[in-house]
Amino acid sequence: MSRSTVMVAVDASGAVARGQVEAICAELREEGHDIVRAHTAEDALALTQSRADLSAALVSWHLDEPETVLRALMGRFTKLPVFLVTTATSVDDLPLWVSEAVSGYVWLLEDTPDFIAGRIGVAADRYLDGVLPPFFRELRRFDDTHEYSWHTPAHAGGVAFLKSPAGRAFFDYYGERLFRTDLSISVGELGSLFEHTGPIGDAERNAARTFGADLTYFVLHGDSTADRIACHASIATDELVLVDRNCHKAIYHGLTITGGRPVYLVPTRNGYGLMGPIPPAAMTAAAVAEGVRRSPFAAGAVGADPVYAVITNSTYDGLCYDVVRVAELLGETVPRLHVDEAWFAYARFNPLYARRYGMSVDVLPEDTRPTVFSTQSTHKLLAAMSQSSMVHVKNSQRSPVEHRQFNETFMMHATTSPLYPMIAGLDVAAAMMDGPGGRWLTDEAITEAIRFRQAVARLGRRIRDAGDRPDWFFGTWQPESVADPATGEAHAFADAPLDLLRTSPECWTLAPGAQWHGFEGMEEGYCLLDPVKVTITCPGVDAAGNVGSTGIPARVLTMYLEARGIVVEKTDSYTCLILFSMGITKGKWGTLLDALLDFKSLYDRGAAVVDVLPELVRAHPDRYAGLSLPALCEQMHLQLSKSELTALLDEAFTHPTPAVATPAQTYQKLIRGGAEPVRLAEIAGRTVATMVVTTPPGIPVLMPGESTGGAGGPVLRYLGALEAFDREFPGFPSETHGVTRDSSGDYWISCLR
Ligand SMILES: *Cc1c(COP(=O)(O)O)cnc(C)c1O
Repeated sequence: MSRSTVMVAVDASGAVARGQVEAICAELREEGHDIVRAHTAEDALALTQSRADLSAALVSWHLDEPETVLRALMGRFTKLPVFLVTTATSVDDLPLWVSEAVSGYVWLLEDTPDFIAGRIGVAADRYLDGVLPPFFRELRRFDDTHEYSWHTPAHAGGVAFLKSPAGRAFFDYYGERLFRTDLSISVGELGSLFEHTGPIGDAERNAARTFGADLTYFVLHGDSTADRIACHASIATDELVLVDRNCHKAIYHGLTITGGRPVYLVPTRNGYGLMGPIPPAAMTAAAVAEGVRRSPFAAGAVGADPVYAVITNSTYDGLCYDVVRVAELLGETVPRLHVDEAWFAYARFNPLYARRYGMSVDVLPEDTRPTVFSTQSTHKLLAAMSQSSMVHVKNSQRSPVEHRQFNETFMMHATTSPLYPMIAGLDVAAAMMDGPGGRWLTDEAITEAIRFRQAVARLGRRIRDAGDRPDWFFGTWQPESVADPATGEAHAFADAPLDLLRTSPECWTLAPGAQWHGFEGMEEGYCLLDPVKVTITCPGVDAAGNVGSTGIPARVLTMYLEARGIVVEKTDSYTCLILFSMGITKGKWGTLLDALLDFKSLYDRGAAVVDVLPELVRAHPDRYAGLSLPALCEQMHLQLSKSELTALLDEAFTHPTPAVATPAQTYQKLIRGGAEPVRLAEIAGRTVATMVVTTPPGIPVLMPGESTGGAGGPVLRYLGALEAFDREFPGFPSETHGVTRDSSGDYWISCLR
């Protein structure tokens, strides 16, 4: 392994200078450093973008655009040692910022190559030591110095695996290092996850600084556990809690554990069936009081007002709140606000998302704002291993989180045998976002997402303009036009300058009444569509819910994409969602665009389903053999429109059925054998025992303890329509939780006896 990688961006003129540069490179190589060379600013920029392993740079002031290169290095790396090749006389003429940015000067002809290479090597080593965050640094040091362990885990640094064939294969597969760093908590040098001391404590504090929190806790059991911890530390039995109906099931589990009584905040929905934000009007003290008044759980509650509120930010479809505004509104009622940011841990690192994440509430006065929790699945959109998550706390004077008390709850939900490589992963995830890295990484994902969106829009326009084929194409969901906030100049989205779209939140906010989003009750700037969460739209319906005479249901597209090795995040009736995460590589989306175009030509040609989706026909030959792709789409579109699935979905979610028991009360009955499965056809008027979640949209249509309502009611008509769809289109089953399907296609749901 090389000691480090040094970029040498020098295009020396003159044989002597060239010879010196070669000698410096040779000396660095001799010392164990890798060298990457650039002869132009363009080369140097490309290396700056692509080589995260650079640990020092030698840049010539006589390059074609030295300032651009230096700026790029500053914008990409924290404290990378940069040595500037110049002449002694020109140092005085350098711009001030350049003198501040560089670590030192190199005068090619004055110093010896040995001396220059030595300085660079030392600086590179020091830099590399400094890039390691606190826990990972100590873990590496520990691994280097300790040979034998006498403590758990019993695999003892992996040695136990070597004694069995299967164990050997496992060991070889992951490599020794993972096992050597899987240590017991009895290793005192590394600190404690429960006392928050030593390098582990330092890592949490480093993350708190990076994410702008007063307190940060590493949770190794997913954001699910982080959510339960935040609830469990704050809600006492029979207290009222404001709950976003669009919440993850972990929040419901939090209610079950605590005995909190939910009062729901119901998000809006548009014609595509996408979940919008909870409108601001529903968050005012007056609206909340009205919700409490109507709640079946208000009678018998402890206290008259809710003590806690929890919202999902961003929503699954990438809609993010102005959290400062939300904290002002909900803060009129509750002293604690929990923002579930499972998909949004990157928000703090790009100015596009200013005010839109939990920890940004520090602009509000500390004595009036609520205390805010942000719970994040670090693994979902930052770089960390599955299950890695964090709870961040921003305290206020109204209801401060007291560390010792919170830690009791934290420990209640934690294993006493944490996996140290996961702690290192959380430490590294924070370090990656610290300094210029976070901005750089988020900028890249945002840029690629916008390029993809514009490419789809331009392609659609070219198809329409060409006039030589059916003029439909897929779209992506965003405004059709945007205005430059500085000049007021308007652009069609497809043609808007990339820099404008990349840097102006105004281009992405849901303006009140704008057609493209179809949500009601918006305030200027209240909600922003995150460009990295890209909703692909299919023909068949628009944002206002107008149904077209033909349509291409997204489930068919998704199945086709899957067959081509492209897996989308989520599929609704006429939309599917893809994510541009930090793992995106430039142009990776080209394959997706290709696949969309191929689908169009297969559809336009009337290709046979057996050729497009052979697996589907193999599994259900009677149903799909002989059918063409357009015919399949037509049948499905007809089924969706005649069963009014999207309209029913809207009704079912906006007219919740009455609740009979709280989640906690229902759970008590459940574990005492108080539940039985009931066929959907016979379920009218029953009370469900477990959550019923349908995807789309992935949120509970029925919570435990809620009545199903009458047979003609919206919930049962909606579930009936889903059941009918599943029967009609085998191989395209609706994704549901809390519903089992028997062999004849009937839905069964667990109800209280
Ligand atoms: C995924 C998710 C969770 C749970 O996160 P895990 O890390 O998978 O446990 C919680 N809340 C929301 C909104 C989620 O999407």
